[in-house]
Amino acid sequence: MGFLKDDIQARIEQYDHWATRRRHGPNGPNNRRLWVLACMDERLPVDEALGIRVDTPVGGGDAHCFRNAGGIVTEDAIRSAMLTCNFFGTQEIAIVQHTQCGMLSANATDLEQALRDRGVDIDNLTLDPTLPELSLQPGGFAKWIGMMDDVDVTCMKTVEVFRNHPLIPKHVEVSGWIWEVETRRLRAPTTDAAARARTDVTADQFGVRSPQPGRWR
Ligand SMILES: [Zn+2]
Repeated sequence: MGFLKDDIQARIEQYDHWATRRRHGPNGPNNRRLWVLACMDERLPVDEALGIRVDTPVGGGDAHCFRNAGGIVTEDAIRSAMLTCNFFGTQEIAIVQHTQCGMLSANATDLEQALRDRGVDIDNLTLDPTLPELSLQPGGFAKWIGMMDDVDVTCMKTVEVFRNHPLIPKHVEVSGWIWEVETRRLRAPTTDAAARARTDVTADQFGVRSPQPGRWR
């Protein structure tokens, strides 16, 4: 058995390298060279679902993790994936959406109307005050909200968007997954009714009767 002081020195050097990763561009990737896109929902535990450690105790840092409502493609998700895949050494994208998602729970057109009723001027919005160039065409707001008809279908379409996006290098491996909140199990997205029988994955199951604005169809 060696001396403790040698182990301590090795740990210090390991930590220094870990802490200064981003100075090294593609040569300082996260542990798994992985970017995760996941829904923000508190019932979706990214580490447990994927068997990784996103959070940052020493030795953590398996992935860059981006979370938003739904775990869907947005311009900021594209921006973040573009940066990590082109400049920080990431070679794989994992998209994780989940059953019982709040993005199934209402129709986006109704949500837009609810905001109008609260006095929000939907038609003259600056989405990002630091980037007024980023604007929606008239009628685009409800699509921008990104509510879903079907989680599995949305997940599969989200995968295709990243596979085909010009800002994501072609060698990047892209996969999509569904976390079943009810069973605490991860599975591939599917339209097979039997494979998703124990879970709520459609807006219809939430009592939403009208289809969402045409973002995912
Ligand atoms: Zn969700």
